[in-house]
Amino acid sequence: MERKLYTAHLLNKSLLSESAQCYHLEFEVAGEERFDFLAGQFVSTVAMDGRGKQQTRAYSIASAPRGNQFDLCLNRVEGGFFSNLLADLTPGQDVQFHGPHGLFVLPQPLTDIVMIATGTGIAPMRSFVEQVFPSETEDRSEGRAIWLVYGTRHETELYYQKYFERIAAAHPNFHYVATLSRPQEGWSGLRGYVQQHVRTCLENYQGMHLPSGEGASLPLHAYICGLNDMVSANRELLKEMGLEKKQIHFERYD
Ligand SMILES: Cc1cc2nc3c(=O)[nH]c(=O)nc-3n(C[C@H](O)[C@H](O)[C@H](O)COP(=O)(O)OP(=O)(O)OC[C@H]3O[C@@H](n4cnc5c(N)ncnc54)[C@H](O)[C@@H]3O)c2cc1C
Repeated sequence: MERKLYTAHLLNKSLLSESAQCYHLEFEVAGEERFDFLAGQFVSTVAMDGRGKQQTRAYSIASAPRGNQFDLCLNRVEGGFFSNLLADLTPGQDVQFHGPHGLFVLPQPLTDIVMIATGTGIAPMRSFVEQVFPSETEDRSEGRAIWLVYGTRHETELYYQKYFERIAAAHPNFHYVATLSRPQEGWSGLRGYVQQHVRTCLENYQGMHLPSGEGASLPLHAYICGLNDMVSANRELLKEMGLEKKQIHFERYD
């Protein structure tokens, strides 16, 4: 099937982390009044490599729908083709893509949610959070409890930290849990891998919803995004803690 190719025009670019070479890119879709997608979906960027071979890579959209614009969050992969092409773009330059694609989207109607991310796996979570809490004063959460458990190695790689903290301060039902696996001296926050903090969140949650410790499945959906090992570890944990397959959604980047 012929896929419609769009042109994304880079409007703004900012460096989120020098050490991880991670960038936030803001695009507008050339010639389109709107670019509609569901929070959590991805686009497939397309370009020719040096040998004239067409290359395609998926990138999660890191923003909620916003007219004809969308954001990406990506880091350079050493020796990688597309991540370096995108990281080297400068405002005013274009890249082609098709999409949106993917089923990594919020449940309808909304339930309680736990989001679990590492590194640039935060991209679709930023889209979800923008969708559910469009600003400090706007709230589409319908009172659902929403957790974001986010892990990286170093503090400099906690992308969008101030944004999530601001939203959490304004919306008491949004809980931002950041953890570092290799914190530097002076870090007073949580330590260790995301799994251990997901377990704590779920234990508290089970305590609230299943006082007897048994019964029907929890009214909760989990969204996991990042590299394969972390995704697998969290899927196992969630199953062990009583979530059913249909409640566990994941996006693997490698
Ligand atoms: C649905 C989906 C959504 C994605 N969303 C994002 C996103 O929002 N942000 C983002 O940064 N990436 C995202 N990715 C990963 C992205 O598609 C590319 O795989 C990544 O940018 C590397 O592409 P490349 O062309 O630079 O490397 P390639 O030339 O494809 O590979 C170079 C080397 O890097 C290894 N590699 C491939 N992917 C990764 C990776 N993700 N991390 C580390 N090493 C890797 C390969 O095994 C290979 O050895 C997503 C992937 C999927 C499937």
